[in-house]
Formats: sequence, C-alpha cells, structure tokens
Amino acid sequence: MGDQAITSCPWHLPVWNVLTAGSRHAHAFLFAGLPGVGKRIFAEAFAAYLLCLRPEAQRACGQCRSCQLRQAGSHPDRLLVEPEEQGKAIRIDVIRQLADFMGQTAQQGGRKVVILHPAEAMNLNAANALLKSLEEPSAETYLLLVSDQPSRLLPTIRSRCRVQSLITPSHTDAMAWLSQSLPDLDAEQRAALLLMAGGAPLRAVTLHEMDAASLRQQVVEGVKELLKSQQSASRLAERWPTLPLELLADWFCDWTLDLLRLKTGAAEEPLNTDMAKVLPYMARHVPMSALLSWQSWLLEHRGMIVGKANLNRVLFIETLLIQWKQLMERR
Ligand SMILES: [Zn+2]
Repeated sequence: MGDQAITSCPWHLPVWNVLTAGSRHAHAFLFAGLPGVGKRIFAEAFAAYLLCLRPEAQRACGQCRSCQLRQAGSHPDRLLVEPEEQGKAIRIDVIRQLADFMGQTAQQGGRKVVILHPAEAMNLNAANALLKSLEEPSAETYLLLVSDQPSRLLPTIRSRCRVQSLITPSHTDAMAWLSQSLPDLDAEQRAALLLMAGGAPLRAVTLHEMDAASLRQQVVEGVKELLKSQQSASRLAERWPTLPLELLADWFCDWTLDLLRLKTGAAEEPLNTDMAKVLPYMARHVPMSALLSWQSWLLEHRGMIVGKANLNRVLFIETLLIQWKQLMERR
C-alpha cells in the first residue's frame, strides 16, 4: 500500500491528534467503524507514524530511512496480516507467524507494527492464538486490529485492546470528499452512492467501481415488474448473472428498513428515493408480522452471504423475490 496520509480522511483528525499527542501508546489498538469510513487508511497512517524515526508535528516525516522503507513496501518491521483471499478466514498458521514476528528484535532498531485486517476474519483457533500475543506484549511492538464488526471478536481480545471508534463523516464532509474522489460524477450521483454506502465515502467509491448504481437501477426495474406480475422471479434471477449477492441483500435490507420506518410512523417518506412510490404503498398493505419475519429471513441470508456460505445463487435470488412479492399477498 502506498503512502496513505491521515489528511486524506480529515474527519479522523480529531482522533488522530489525541492518539499521537503523547509518546507512549497502548500495545494493541482496535480500530472499529462502518465499512468504508477509512479505518484501514487510519491504521496504515498510524503504523507509519509509529515506525517513523523522526516524527514531526504528529506526522511521519516521510524522509527517514524507516519512512523510505515503508514507502517502498519493504519495511522489515511492519507486518500486514490479512486473509489470503478476500472473504476467507485468517488461520492459525498466519497468527503463529505474527507471534514469531512480534518476538523478534526490530531489524531497523526502532519499533515493530502489525496491522491485522479485518480482525473478525480470524477463525476461533487463530483468535485464541492471538490472545497469547496480546497477553505477553513485547516492548516497542504494536498490534493494530481493524474491524467492521468488532462484536464478532472474542470479548477477551477486545478487552486487551484500546478500542478506538472511527466515525462516519458528516454528510457535508463526505460529499466534499467524494467531489474530489469522483470528479466525473454529478452531485446527485455522488449522493445516491453515499446513501447506498450508509454514509461511508470510501465505500461509495467502491460501489462506484462495482457499477452499483446501474446494477441497482436494473434491480429496481425488475422488482417493479415483479410486483406488477409482468416478470417472474425465476426469469429475473437468471437475468442478473453477475450481480453481487451482497449488494442485492443490502438493497433489500435498505428497502425493508424504509418499510419499517414507514410502518411504525418513524418516517413519512422513504430514504431510498428509487423506490419512492413502491415502498409507501407496500407499507400500507403489508402486515407488521409478515414484515418482521421477512426481515429475519433476509438478515439471516445476508449473514450467510457475508460469511461466504455456499448459496445456490439463482435459487437464492428467486426465493428472495418470491418472498418479497408474497409480502404483498399476505394482507
Ligand atoms: Zn520518518
């Protein structure tokens, strides 16, 4: 990873300024927050700061031998631990290597830093092995855990870390950041991506790279056709061969939350304007009990998708669509 300066996520600066104010630091940190708020950039920048031999004004200098090695991606005292493949588990053998690394003397004579990302990817054996390293910290060695889902970590791991929540920026700050990162889009497109990303700007960029806006448009059209019985669930399921299931499940979760807000009177209009007509109509007609059991089905399956369970994709989409349509038939 290149030189990610903390200033590239200015909304984290208040936390940064506190963390870097003193010369003594906790041995283990857990940086937690929503996906796409810049936790990884924060951890990389903090690692750079810890490794820098001559930090200036609470920043890594970018000039010293240590900074140069890090920028070249070859710092021997910096270790990045992540799954071999995205979505796969971090296994115990990798944590054993981590423990060996932490036990060694620093090759550059300074500090050693490990970034573990995402921490919730550790399986139970790996997590138990990590506990040992946390219980016996080595001098001048720092462990930086990064997690979207800190509740999935062992409580014994969390309690041995300094837990630092990293916030989601304000809408104004996020939009300002996106206007720099996605200059070719207009404000409305950026706002739509940001909404889809739950307000997390880096996630919005990822969604843009996945072409999520146009995929979502296709799904919205399909769902409308389905509700009007102009299209069958099975035909639609075959029509979206490359649509990431995680996105599909997220969108239905967003719409379902809107339905619940409308149903309980917590909102008068849906947040998701692409379903501005459909959702209020559904909210009026679907019984609360049906909505709640649909939501629990959806969340359970979303969990399976995030956990990389082996789902039959066409069957999953078809079942999801049939259930969505049946919501309207269960009045
Ligand atoms: Zn430096």
